[in-house]
Amino acid sequence: MLFDIHVHTKISPCSDLYVADVLKQARACGLDGVCITDHQTMEIRRHLREGIQDDGLCVVFGIEYATAHGDFLLFGPFENISLDLSAIELLNQVRQAGGVAIAAHPFRSDRPVSEHLVREGFCRVVESVNGRNTPIENLQVEKWRKELSLTCCGGSDAHTLDELGTVGTRFSIPVRSRNDLIFAFKNGLCHPECSASNNLVKVRANV
Ligand SMILES: [Zn+2]
Ligand SMILES: [Zn+2]
Repeated sequence: MLFDIHVHTKISPCSDLYVADVLKQARACGLDGVCITDHQTMEIRRHLREGIQDDGLCVVFGIEYATAHGDFLLFGPFENISLDLSAIELLNQVRQAGGVAIAAHPFRSDRPVSEHLVREGFCRVVESVNGRNTPIENLQVEKWRKELSLTCCGGSDAHTLDELGTVGTRFSIPVRSRNDLIFAFKNGLCHPECSASNNLVKVRANV
């Protein structure tokens, strides 16, 4: 199943994407699911029902959480998470709550994730392909992949309609809920895929 796991709606001040358009476009570009990951909020829950929609699209709510040591996509019971945690506090809280944290665009030059968090095992899932990164920023993850046992995934980081679905994550198990998604990430049952003209194709095996 193919998901775009990193999407911002208009709830994020920097995004132009209406929720209804996200759902429509997700279906149009062949996604099986979409994760709404607005900056610092899960407010999306007041606008949309999570889970399988009437047409079969799976919607999962997450959050993109900024710290001084990098940004993390979180999936779990974080609707009321306090927003002033350090990266270590955050990652410990996510683990204790049974959620998953994904190092978002870890080599983006202006918002990198601190290497020690990944090297020391605080975060084992990385967004190795991000639709808003430069190719060079994405390729730098390779040095981690060669040395560390990581789960890799991809997200578009869409803030506009044309960005949605440009990068996705392929799951090798059915994902029909937030819990399914967390299970898949924790067990490494996924890999990133990139699109060519909105037609998502696998670019590299096991990337
Ligand atoms: Zn943004
Ligand atoms: Zn983002």
